[in-house]
Amino acid sequence: MLHTIKRQIKKHFGHHINPDVVILTRKYVDMIEINFNALLGRHFLPHPRQKIEIETSGRCNLSCRFCAYSKKITAKVVMPMNLFQEVVEQAAEMGFSEIGLTPMTGEVFMDKGIIEKMHYLDAHPQIKSYYFFTNFVVPSEQTIKELFNLRKLKFIHISLYGHDEKSFCNLTQATTKEYHRLVNNLNYLYDLYNEKRSFILRMGWRTMPSFFKLEQSSPTSELQEIFLKFQTYHKIKSNNTLLYNNWGGEITQADVQDTGLRINDGTQVYRKGLCSVIFRFSGILADGRVSACVCRDVKGSLVVGDLRKESLSYVLSLNNPLYANLIQEQLESKFRPVCLTCDFYNSFYQKMRMNASIKAYYKFDFVKTLLNQPPSEK
Ligand code: SF4
Ligand code: SF4
Repeated sequence: MLHTIKRQIKKHFGHHINPDVVILTRKYVDMIEINFNALLGRHFLPHPRQKIEIETSGRCNLSCRFCAYSKKITAKVVMPMNLFQEVVEQAAEMGFSEIGLTPMTGEVFMDKGIIEKMHYLDAHPQIKSYYFFTNFVVPSEQTIKELFNLRKLKFIHISLYGHDEKSFCNLTQATTKEYHRLVNNLNYLYDLYNEKRSFILRMGWRTMPSFFKLEQSSPTSELQEIFLKFQTYHKIKSNNTLLYNNWGGEITQADVQDTGLRINDGTQVYRKGLCSVIFRFSGILADGRVSACVCRDVKGSLVVGDLRKESLSYVLSLNNPLYANLIQEQLESKFRPVCLTCDFYNSFYQKMRMNASIKAYYKFDFVKTLLNQPPSEK
């Protein structure tokens, strides 16, 4: 009930309320809900063997000022095809059927073999769907065309950084060449959009707050024009944000000076108990290491194993002390530094905010039995 009220308030009034008021209101509403459910012994964990993240590219072509990509120390490499196939095989054997291809930082189209990898997922009998986020600057027309031949690609989310040439270059630290490439790619995608396809398209604005006060139906740049066309003729859903994450303290207000962006410090989040995101966003980094949660961990502090040495079923099991200790710490409300400033934290005493499509939730005892299953040989 409280969950629904929070979503409705955000949807209808999100842009009109001071972000500080939103943060504090959310903290106290969460506190009530979490403690109420804790008292009743209710847990809301997603199935831990449903979705997994595979970072095919740890490299990015942009350097957005609000993103920790430039500061990350996890590998900026592309996952080789043989490692990708091995990871998918092991994940499918464990029951994972949904794959996210862009867990943290990195641009999926920096991987020249990404279409081949997506065809591999399409052909895999155990994989039901996959998706990715992209800045859409890099793909060639041929690559864009190929997207229409994929059959299990569930959605593409295009993140639009800036709303015109000037704000794009300011926020991404890229050149006008990249801006025009993005606009051309969007126009090409628009031209093909009526063709048969498996994917749903979504877009998200990541730009200066002043943009949202402008009259959205009167575009002042090619980027806004093409966005409006998608929205008007194809009913594309879009989102935006006024509060940007601090990436575990890596990004501060100084990084986004003169942009009007607001960096959230994440310390005002009410935390109690296990973070359920662990069972929705565990993932394999492009170099083969496994992170218990790939959301914000640019320094690798939640890395719990390495697929070049161990099997995935061992790494994501309670037989693995690195994984088991992390879960135990969180059950006792002890959080590592990256989690202490992370505003994606989602207590297992609440339904998940990040993924409203989750239909079934489980108690920790049930999840524990799945995490205790004997690992397969690598
Ligand atoms: S926000 Fe996305 S596009 Fe921008 S630097 Fe980070 S990973 Fe790259
Ligand atoms: S608090 Fe954030 S980084 Fe930590 S496990 Fe939860 S979502 Fe991941």
